Amino acid sequence: MGACWGSRMFPASSGDELARAFGAYQEDQTEEYGTDGYNGTASTCSNVVIYDKTFDNEDEAEIWLESKVAKRDSGAVKVTGFPAPKASDQKKIDAIALKIRELDMELQAFPAEIIKRVRAAKSKTRGCDCGSQIAVNRIRSLSCPVCGVDFLTTDTDKARIEAMKVKRNKANAELVALKGSVDGRATKNGWRWLVGWLAAE
Ligand SMILES: [Zn+2]
Repeated sequence: MGACWGSRMFPASSGDELARAFGAYQEDQTEEYGTDGYNGTASTCSNVVIYDKTFDNEDEAEIWLESKVAKRDSGAVKVTGFPAPKASDQKKIDAIALKIRELDMELQAFPAEIIKRVRAAKSKTRGCDCGSQIAVNRIRSLSCPVCGVDFLTTDTDKARIEAMKVKRNKANAELVALKGSVDGRATKNGWRWLVGWLAAE
């Protein structure tokens, strides 16, 4: 049973966001290579330990990490010298990204809003097309407990959901276009995470 070194760059972010991003990458590796604890990928390692170190050279950062990270561990340092949007462009990017996150949250919360509305209504039961009458105070989801079909989302709700999705996609397209046009004006003072791990195989 041996060990093999792997590394990968991640975008600049908070430490928590990096831990989540690396966790998602580990899950991808598990999906692709299986749950075998000796599959030679990042999925055999613990989640990332962040070292308070910054390098201006990727090779030096990697050599340093290789000297620090033990088998089945992973570590991260910052590497500088990458393109970064100008502050004014970054402000626009952040604003659109926030709008997208808010729309995502609204969309996610929508089913709960519908249930709240149904439970606050006067009628004590709700009928489904399958003929069942469901007591309002037992409703926990949008699906009829008898036939499993969504029996609470109205056409008005559907139109509102659709409108939110259209807005979200428009904002996303705007973000992609903005990021593309900003690349040419980028400065060189950006940074990224370099994550290295020593996988078991
Ligand atoms: Zn039903």
